[in-house]
Amino acid sequence: MNKQKRIKKDEKILKKFIAVYCRENHLRKGRKEYKDGYCKECYELLEYSLQRLYACPLDPKPQCKHCKIHCYKPQMRLKIKEVMKFSGMYFLKHGRLDWVFHYFF
Ligand code: SF4
Ligand SMILES: [Zn+2]
Repeated sequence: MNKQKRIKKDEKILKKFIAVYCRENHLRKGRKEYKDGYCKECYELLEYSLQRLYACPLDPKPQCKHCKIHCYKPQMRLKIKEVMKFSGMYFLKHGRLDWVFHYFF
């Protein structure tokens, strides 16, 4: 897959996985929406992840989970891992295997 395609795909996955995580764990439990269906914390995580994605030095870009560099700072990496795990399970339970195959971290 060429880099532009990979970036588009990863962008979609990040938005979707973080949105589901936020909705189920934050917004449904009363946390205030900050922007576009995300709480502030999740919106910041999304922005950070997209920024990493656009700045990715690798070409071809691997899936982040197979990456040897891991450009995320440790705290953000922990967060995105938790998001991917939760939302991966969520999509699995809801029959969205197509999403689960793209598991990030
Ligand atoms: S973790 Fe690796 S593949 Fe993912 S954006 Fe960072 S450098 Fe690129
Ligand atoms: Zn949130």
